[in-house]
Amino acid sequence: MKYKTIFEPFKIKSVEPIRVTTEHQRERYLKRAHYNPFLLHSDDVLIDLLTDSGTSAMSAAQWSAMMSGDESYAGAKSWLRLEAEIHDLTGYPHILPTHQGRAAERILYGYLGGKGKIFISNTHFDTTRANIEFTDATAIDIPMPESSMVTFDQPFKGDMDTAKLESHIKTHGSQNIAAVILTVTNNSGGGQPVSMHNARMVSAICKKNKILFIIDCCRIAENSYFIRNREVGFKSKTYRKIAQEMFALADGCIMSAKKDALANIGGFLALRNHKLAQACTNLLIITEGFVTYGGLAGRDMDAIAIGLREVFDPDYLHYRIRSTAYLGEHLFSKGIPLIMPPGGHAIYIDAAKLYPQIPLHEYPGQALVCELYIKGGIRCVEIGSVMFGKYDKRGKLIPAPKELVRLAIPRRVYTQSHIDYVIEVFDEIIRTKQEVRGLRITHELEALRHFTAHFEKL
Ligand SMILES: *Cc1c(COP(=O)(O)O)cnc(C)c1O
Repeated sequence: MKYKTIFEPFKIKSVEPIRVTTEHQRERYLKRAHYNPFLLHSDDVLIDLLTDSGTSAMSAAQWSAMMSGDESYAGAKSWLRLEAEIHDLTGYPHILPTHQGRAAERILYGYLGGKGKIFISNTHFDTTRANIEFTDATAIDIPMPESSMVTFDQPFKGDMDTAKLESHIKTHGSQNIAAVILTVTNNSGGGQPVSMHNARMVSAICKKNKILFIIDCCRIAENSYFIRNREVGFKSKTYRKIAQEMFALADGCIMSAKKDALANIGGFLALRNHKLAQACTNLLIITEGFVTYGGLAGRDMDAIAIGLREVFDPDYLHYRIRSTAYLGEHLFSKGIPLIMPPGGHAIYIDAAKLYPQIPLHEYPGQALVCELYIKGGIRCVEIGSVMFGKYDKRGKLIPAPKELVRLAIPRRVYTQSHIDYVIEVFDEIIRTKQEVRGLRITHELEALRHFTAHFEKL
């Protein structure tokens, strides 16, 4: 393009009003929600950056495909269309639909797991780890060493540490390793991309040691964008071809259609091995439904089939990745400490650095999450000691490795002026940062406490 302005490559056909609130109202709403934005009503939120999962705006083509959804119990046309699409994209012969990503995880890792089994990943996403540990198996994260450096500018910080992979295989024995999982992009590691070079190395190591290699492909299109634009040798390939090349390296994949399939619900498991697919199909029927719908309505399968194609559109991907980077670059230039370079779907702010006056056991990340809501009506999530903190025997907090706050960008939902507004709110965050105090937890449940915890301001 001759001009440097990147505009949203779509027109808006249907709109959802945002109810404008005042700071005073938002203080009341947040108090009522016990200072936990998960407990807010979405109607009380101005810009919702809680997650990019299931929050995409669907296209006219997806909505019209939904009208031709075939709701037959078995062999629906919608399923045949989805199956053909996934088969064409991944190359895997066996495809199992599920109601979302974690259902596919529970089926595959539930089958492969069990006491003494080991799973190795660049970083297990939280539902992945939970499904593995639920079987009494062990989940080991081996991100590349630079991934933990918050401002270290490296193009593929989502890569797996392959030297560590080989040493874990030696230590534990390849027969005890149930699977190696490459998460692209690396969600919990900051939405950072994985290089094709790294995927090839992991693939070769798995082949040599006869270990199952699975790709968690929730954001494979966003990852392909980074490969084409940052890795040598991919300039002349389409994003779809790049994704296909990565699928070809593995034995199967797991996907949440709530991410890069641009749908509001859905997921799938795709496998090369016939015997493994048969075993998983058994489990699928018990909990998800028959093999040709797996917990999904026919219309949802049609929306996913169209979304999986649309997401590789070069104009869409350019807009998508650049708009995340736009937010990151502006916040960085204001001096907000964040993970750089920005990943594909979200910006991660280092709240412990922003609020050095707040000790870790008073949750600086949660304090920032609350400030962003009160000052600007922006909803986001803490990824720090509220989410991952544990207690020692005497009830003292063992903090998480980092106190991050994630601003996740829903796909095709917000325009540049929404993001400009978010950037402006950060001026107020910076201006008032010395006054901010931490929080205390007053109520919590054991499992995934960040969803339900209650807090009190100190
Ligand atoms: C969202 C996600 C999952 C789980 O998918 P759900 O649809 O939320 O169940 C698994 N892995 C990664 C990397 C994800 O981002």
